[in-house]
Amino acid sequence: MNYTDKLEQTQVEGIPSAYQLPPCPDCGINAGMPHAPECDIERCSVCQCQRLTCGCVGHDPSFAVWTGRFPVNKNAEISLALSRDKRLRPKVGHCYRNCFRAIQVLPEFKNAIYVEGIVHLTRGFQIEHAWLERDGEIVDPTLPTQQGVYFSGLRFNGVVGLAEAMAIPKQSGSRDLPLFHRFGFGGHLSPEFTAARIAAKRMLEFEMGQPSGS
Ligand SMILES: [Zn+2]
Ligand SMILES: [Zn+2]
Repeated sequence: MNYTDKLEQTQVEGIPSAYQLPPCPDCGINAGMPHAPECDIERCSVCQCQRLTCGCVGHDPSFAVWTGRFPVNKNAEISLALSRDKRLRPKVGHCYRNCFRAIQVLPEFKNAIYVEGIVHLTRGFQIEHAWLERDGEIVDPTLPTQQGVYFSGLRFNGVVGLAEAMAIPKQSGSRDLPLFHRFGFGGHLSPEFTAARIAAKRMLEFEMGQPSGS
């Protein structure tokens, strides 16, 4: 793969650094891009271990992109358990509510991080989404088992963080959730949320330049 060409095409100029997630500390690629060969930080898309040390067949580098944060693996087992938790009763398509309530209702999640950002689910398909992070792992009660690339935008720590977030004035007539709407339409006034959008868009653009079905 002509890596350097791809990198040059996807450099975003004229965007303040606050609106950019940091590049991979090992291989230096921008958030939203697959790691360079031999990068220490790349994770295997099959087993979630360090790619350099595993030999899984079927590793998909496009699903192992640098997200701007140190790799955070999704715990599908805990996510699935949470998706079936009778105390929570998460609803399909209600990711914000599901995660918000998990922190409010479940003692074991009261200190979890509530995250809003962008998730890349399949080729060409991304959604705005909320998930939880706990003990360095993603827990996603709404999409428990799907493979995804999670671009973290807004982060609120536990019950206290959510209370502070809810105190931020919202646009009149808008709902309590998602929280990113408190930062201008679509969250565009939040550097963190915008940085997640930019990285996710970079991933889409890179993907469009790749042959399909690979
Ligand atoms: Zn890297
Ligand atoms: Zn592996």
